[in-house]
Amino acid sequence: MSTQTKATEKSTEKKHVSMYEAVLARFNTAAKLYNLPEDIAAMLVTPQKQVKVSLPVMMDNGKIQVFEGYRIVHSTHLGPSKGGIRYAPDVNDDEVKALAAWMTYKCAVAGLPYGGAKGGITCNPRNMSVGELERMTRAYTSAMSEVFGPNKDIPAPDMGTGKREMAWIVDEYSKIRREYLPGVVTGKPITLGGSRGREAATGRGVMIHTIEAMKKIGIDRKKASAAVQGFGNVGLNAAKLLSSKGIRIVAISDHTGAFYNEKGFDIDTAVKYAQKNNNVLQGFTGGDLISNEQLLTLDVDALIPAAIQNQINEENAHKIQAKLIVEGANGPTEFGADHILNEKGITVVPDILANSGGVTVSYFEWVQNQYGHYWKEEEVNAKHDFAMETAFEQVWFNSKQYKTSLRIGAYITAFKRLEKAIRYRGAY
Ligand code: GLU
Repeated sequence: MSTQTKATEKSTEKKHVSMYEAVLARFNTAAKLYNLPEDIAAMLVTPQKQVKVSLPVMMDNGKIQVFEGYRIVHSTHLGPSKGGIRYAPDVNDDEVKALAAWMTYKCAVAGLPYGGAKGGITCNPRNMSVGELERMTRAYTSAMSEVFGPNKDIPAPDMGTGKREMAWIVDEYSKIRREYLPGVVTGKPITLGGSRGREAATGRGVMIHTIEAMKKIGIDRKKASAAVQGFGNVGLNAAKLLSSKGIRIVAISDHTGAFYNEKGFDIDTAVKYAQKNNNVLQGFTGGDLISNEQLLTLDVDALIPAAIQNQINEENAHKIQAKLIVEGANGPTEFGADHILNEKGITVVPDILANSGGVTVSYFEWVQNQYGHYWKEEEVNAKHDFAMETAFEQVWFNSKQYKTSLRIGAYITAFKRLEKAIRYRGAY
């Protein structure tokens, strides 16, 4: 067998490592350290509700195509379940289950009165027309109309979805219920009850966590450099905001390529380029073309993986030179890489803390919908920044108290809240 075949086999093998198993591995590490009672742990290991639907959609060519849709409610112990909807070709129940569990911990870490859920449709939105996407989104909303609800389960954008899809969801759901219910979904356009500051919120949270972590570990942000992987909603806004705080963004990337510029990118120029270029960075001349692997292993102060899951793994973790990793994406680090990063002394601000700015402003959006009164952007941002700084401090404190990583410290922060809520609520 050639080495190449062996390598291919190995990577296929790796792909089959279940994401939910990786969630459980971290959960178990934290549960053991915190001494989480077994009955509470048992309630958090299995999702509360798992719904899978088939969605027949009339395609533009006149043929019906059937898509698979998921919504997994992991926990409602702290309140109605909350979490985004993902449109991507590799969406499957294991992935949605893992993402749903992360939402539970993320909401608990951020101190929100929400449980966790996630949804998704296995599809390739890049190859679909706007009409096809609208019909698929409405079919999904209709199929999930008993799952969703402003006080039940509240979706939001995730990979492959945005305010356009959220507008279709609120419209379809309100038609079914025969009343306008904007609180059923967050991440809506502002004219339909969306919140100011929601679009940039996840990136804004990444910026706050990067700055807070830099203060703790003694990096002078005015002299700091960062590499940002991903140029979607999270990466783009994180890069923009970090650079507005004086941090030099020396690398950016999207699925079409990665770029390096030692002097630092002017993010607005890159954004304008992408906007004119079908929303991709391909062909961008503001920096040298590098590989994705090179971006991850650059000699920078901070690395911000804000693209997709499983980017930092056992193969590349030992090559990472950044002192700080702030996980803008969900699950960008494989479980197996955790101990390598710890041993190298790299500070990792974990996803369930680092990207919780998005769901935090989703909560503010929902509150504004319940009130029917809307806040200024400065007000939203101030509330957001305070919530994120508080969450960061709590996770930092718990990681010190339990002498563990920020990742396990974040799980412990979540356990403290979840344990109390579950005990107060009781059981049959
Ligand atoms: N999809 C985002 C996340 O993973 C936002 C979820 C929300 O706002 O409910 O955190």
